[in-house]
Amino acid sequence: MTRQPIAFIAYHASPLAAPGQAKAGGMNVYVRELARALGDSGRRVDVFTRSHPGAENAIEQVTPEVRVIHLPDGGADVPLESLPGHLPRFQRALDDFQRECRTQYSVVHSHYWLSGVAGQTFANRLEIPHVVTFHTLAHIKMQSRAGEVEPEERHRAERFLMSSAQRIIAFSSHERDAMVDLYGADPRRIFIAPCGVDLSLFHPQDRDRARGMLGLNGEKVFLYVGRLESLKGVELLMRLPAYLDTCEKSRFLVVGGGPGEQEQIERLHSIARTLNVDEAIDFVGMVDQNDLPLYYSAADACVVPSYYESFGLTALESMACGTPVVASRVGGLPSVVQHGRTGYLQSWRCPEAFANSLETIASSPSLRQSMSRAARRRAEDMGWERVAETISQVYDCVDSEA
Ligand code: UDP
Repeated sequence: MTRQPIAFIAYHASPLAAPGQAKAGGMNVYVRELARALGDSGRRVDVFTRSHPGAENAIEQVTPEVRVIHLPDGGADVPLESLPGHLPRFQRALDDFQRECRTQYSVVHSHYWLSGVAGQTFANRLEIPHVVTFHTLAHIKMQSRAGEVEPEERHRAERFLMSSAQRIIAFSSHERDAMVDLYGADPRRIFIAPCGVDLSLFHPQDRDRARGMLGLNGEKVFLYVGRLESLKGVELLMRLPAYLDTCEKSRFLVVGGGPGEQEQIERLHSIARTLNVDEAIDFVGMVDQNDLPLYYSAADACVVPSYYESFGLTALESMACGTPVVASRVGGLPSVVQHGRTGYLQSWRCPEAFANSLETIASSPSLRQSMSRAARRRAEDMGWERVAETISQVYDCVDSEA
């Protein structure tokens, strides 16, 4: 029996955008990889996303089962905070597209609250179930770091979707508990399904060779990969070299930050300069995901100093490459990093503790080696195929209830 396709609503998270810049990150990777893995398992997926500069074709056939459909929303290159104003136009374009093609979808799966708003209306009109993955939640974000403010519209939409969607995907038990405690969500509607990793791309490479290719010599190498925003703890990252005993023999590679983010990079540089450690930090800029395994493999350890991380894809990618992770004990990170086995989790946002853990791993080859093996083993259970299997079960379940 051929199953009807799934409609992914990924309003501003195009699976075709390059991650690692302010406007594209883990959510884009999740949408891309989950759609691909569902496609590989025989499910057809239509991903609806907004047209954006660089979207070549209105309909992009990514794999035989997966299409990305770009819909106009009236805004060319608008900032994230202005996107809600463009959503109604996107919603109309979505309805028009479906009416014209008459595609019968079995389930709508939305990504992020904005998509959830459009996805719920779409699912209601088609009288089919709605599944939501929030990716981040306004309440947790605001509780994680002073100064984070999210619009009331987002709070309202998240509360509404918690009760209107048939199923909500949480990345970890931490996220599920927050949905129940902070939003009053019904725990029976929440399904925990962690993110995944592309195990064929992210695997250990020879460390010396990787270092040689990146022009590194005998120094200790610590890696940060991600968007350069304060919620990721990048200011704390800048302070770490000053707390290393071996600062002059260490390099921090900072991967991420798009072409338009020079001001942010300059601000971080100046923090490092004030602490007299700017020589130890290399701002590499955005790296194509296909080249990231080289960076992970070259590093003694990867550092994830975030205030909030609903999952922490980079931690998992690092582990898949056999590189231990030193991360904050926040959000979904404890569900990825096993403290003392695949790296260390820090409960306090204090640079001494992070620096000490990085140095402990880098200065003990046997510890690094055993953590490296444990990290890869753990990641091997977390491929996207497995995530797709789990999510497929959620679709079948809501479909049978409909
Ligand atoms: N990434 C990338 N190139 C970069 C920086 C990051 O491809 O230069 C990818 C990285 O591999 C990961 C994603 O961007 O898959 C970041 O995901 P994460 O969950 O760590 O952070 P988020 O963006 O969701 O906050």
